[in-house]
Amino acid sequence: MNFGIDNITTIISEIIKKIAPSKTALVPVGVSNRHIHLSQKDLYYLFGEGYQLTKIKDLKQPNQFAAKETVTVVGPKGVLHNVRILGPARNQTQVEISRTDAFILGVNPPVRISGDTKNSAGAIIIGPKNTLILQEGVIISANHLHLSAEEAKDLNLTNGQKIIIRSITKERKLYFVDVVVRCGAEHSKEFHIDTDEANAALLDTNDNVEIVYI
Ligand SMILES: [Zn+2]
Repeated sequence: MNFGIDNITTIISEIIKKIAPSKTALVPVGVSNRHIHLSQKDLYYLFGEGYQLTKIKDLKQPNQFAAKETVTVVGPKGVLHNVRILGPARNQTQVEISRTDAFILGVNPPVRISGDTKNSAGAIIIGPKNTLILQEGVIISANHLHLSAEEAKDLNLTNGQKIIIRSITKERKLYFVDVVVRCGAEHSKEFHIDTDEANAALLDTNDNVEIVYI
């Protein structure tokens, strides 16, 4: 093999091409604080039969909203007060907390995509009318990128695909790997991370991060 200067330059430029992203696209960050999604049944149990949630804010994801109502979440070691309910009601009750919150409660939830709660952690949920013993449903939300069908097409990404997102404009630079793409009519462009991840990367809601195309 010839290791002349021209060859070395070629080899280096080939390596750079391989490790450097060929193109990037910016996406806005959405930081998710601890929250709970309730099933209709659990909502009625905790708040009373026929209870309707009061919307205080639309979320960026279509049809999703923050409700005025909150619950108390109790674990073996501690309590989280005023945990926000996000509506509308879902098929199953799910509590999404950070690892820091998990330490406060004294539980050990797995990192999961929303809806995947089998064998996750449990907790006690206290509402104004009743107390619910949740056997499972407490998770640390896996970070994910929401995209509408059109945005996914534009970015050449598909539902369920795992991608890399990097944050390189803050004092602390981080790469997020295995970010799951969730796309379709019920989604809108937003990179969801929890408060621990946001704090680690010095990111706030609406900051921009980059999709890395390899
Ligand atoms: Zn999300």
